[in-house]
Amino acid sequence: MNTSLMRRVSGPASFVLALAACWFAASLIADRMVQQELNTAVQTQSRITAAAVDNMAEVIANDLAMSRAIPATLAELDTIQRVLAQSRNYAVKPSATEPAWRNKTLKTSQLALVGHLLQDAQGFSGLDAIWLIDDNGRGIATSSRHSPTSLNGLSLRQQPCMAQALLGAFNETYGLDDDATASASQRGPDNLASAESGIFIAAPVYDHGVLVGALGAKLGLARLRHWVARPGAFVADANGVVIMAYDRALEGWALPRSPVIQMPAATRISLYHRDAFPTLTLNPALPRMHLQAQWLTGALAAQLHEMPSRPLPALYQNREGLNSALSAHLIDPITIWPNLLRNHQRDRWLLFLALAGAVTLTWVVSWTYLRERRHHQAARQMAQQLQTANSMLSAEARQDALTGALSRRYFLALLRHEVERARVTGTPLCVISADLDHFKQINDDFGHAAGDRALEHFVASCKTSLRSRDAVGRLGGEEFAILLPTTPVLAGIEIAERLRLRLKQQPPAALPTLACVSASFGVAQLAPDEPAEQLLQRADAALYVAKSGGRDRSAAAPPPVSPFSAV
Ligand code: GH3
Ligand code: MG
Ligand code: MG
Repeated sequence: MNTSLMRRVSGPASFVLALAACWFAASLIADRMVQQELNTAVQTQSRITAAAVDNMAEVIANDLAMSRAIPATLAELDTIQRVLAQSRNYAVKPSATEPAWRNKTLKTSQLALVGHLLQDAQGFSGLDAIWLIDDNGRGIATSSRHSPTSLNGLSLRQQPCMAQALLGAFNETYGLDDDATASASQRGPDNLASAESGIFIAAPVYDHGVLVGALGAKLGLARLRHWVARPGAFVADANGVVIMAYDRALEGWALPRSPVIQMPAATRISLYHRDAFPTLTLNPALPRMHLQAQWLTGALAAQLHEMPSRPLPALYQNREGLNSALSAHLIDPITIWPNLLRNHQRDRWLLFLALAGAVTLTWVVSWTYLRERRHHQAARQMAQQLQTANSMLSAEARQDALTGALSRRYFLALLRHEVERARVTGTPLCVISADLDHFKQINDDFGHAAGDRALEHFVASCKTSLRSRDAVGRLGGEEFAILLPTTPVLAGIEIAERLRLRLKQQPPAALPTLACVSASFGVAQLAPDEPAEQLLQRADAALYVAKSGGRDRSAAAPPPVSPFSAV
């Protein structure tokens, strides 16, 4: 990653942005996780719900099949057929009252015998009541003939179930006891729960192919509560009325758009003893759930249902087309829903903390890297500056700042080196010691700056006249030394003279014409085995001779006196 990009990435604004991105990513991942979890739960629970509702349907079908068999079998019995065929023999006047009919049926011995038969059949079949009606719909024998609610003597023609049977159809319907003792006013619209409800089964009875009456049986719902043993289970009849529910508060409710809503009020009251039916609301869309869980996808929401009074979304399955008009339903709540909501929140925070931790770490590492890099650059810059300063210092140490001549120390080192080389190579070498004449006077007369110009001019003049391998050094204020490798003394004197004359002929332009710049020179040639310092002293001595001789001249130093020459 390049530095500018890293700098941008490690800024505080990017850090805040990165945290926002972490929150977004954490929400996205947590949403996916909870969707996955809910999806798995829905898949599993759907299978369980389907199995449960299938089981309900099977139990209902089996129970009804067994209950139907009893009236069907009884309707085939000779005794029943005969007693109904002869029912006209026991009839009273058509205009007689129900109590009169009742008395008559109870007192007729043949009907009493059939009543015993029906009673026995009820006893072993598990039915709640069995009764016979003649072809006019009059109850002539029942399994509970001495009960105050016995149907003996009652006209049951209007009962839809019995009316169908008198038309020759075996049928079965949900209904309430059409109890003669309960007047129409007692049958209020809200007494469904208190009324004895059940499945009414009616079978036509034929004698030698002639319809002679019908046999009715009631299967009380109280015996069938195992149909709705599971929470959320309920059973609806053909008209969409909930006739039995695990949660009894649901009984008497109508399924959405069910036939009971459309039927005439009189029929409703006749069938259910009530007119008003609250409608069961089962919304497939989940606006309320969506408020709790924004992550809920449309596909998942479509599988869930909500009921206004229930806090949990639920799966809903139903089975119709059993071998009756009943239908089995199961509203199975998603019990892990509250956990899912909690887990989603927790996962979102955990993911955010993990991502934010990673981002913070990256940010700190980048920030530290950049800081180190900045320090490193600053240190490198300082090192470069130091190096430049060192090289400047070293140059200054080698050169005289004013004139550009070699410094005294460097010149002496160079002199030693050249002396050594001359000795090794056997070549001559000369040193000229030079000193400006009456220089103090120039300072005094024209100022110190003028003196400086004179010094600069002297060195520049020397450099112009000398070879590249010759060297000029400033040994003190206005004292100089010139190193002439591979130069014998005569050539040295010649060079000294040339320098002297040039200085006179070309005075420094920066000085007034009155200023007279001249110099004296002392020339010495390196003697065999002579040290550099002694060579310089001899050149100085020659200079002294030149000064003493009147200045503005050159003098050559004699060869050094050998310690053995006096002997
Ligand atoms: P002499 O002919 O005997 O050599 O006489 P002089 O005046 O040249 O010698 P002296 O030793 O009496 O004076 C040298 C003067 O050089 C004294 C000092 O102030 C001056 N001087 C030394 N260094 C510098 C410098 O760098 N610049 C200037 N302008 N003057 C300097
Ligand atoms: Mg001088
Ligand atoms: Mg001097």
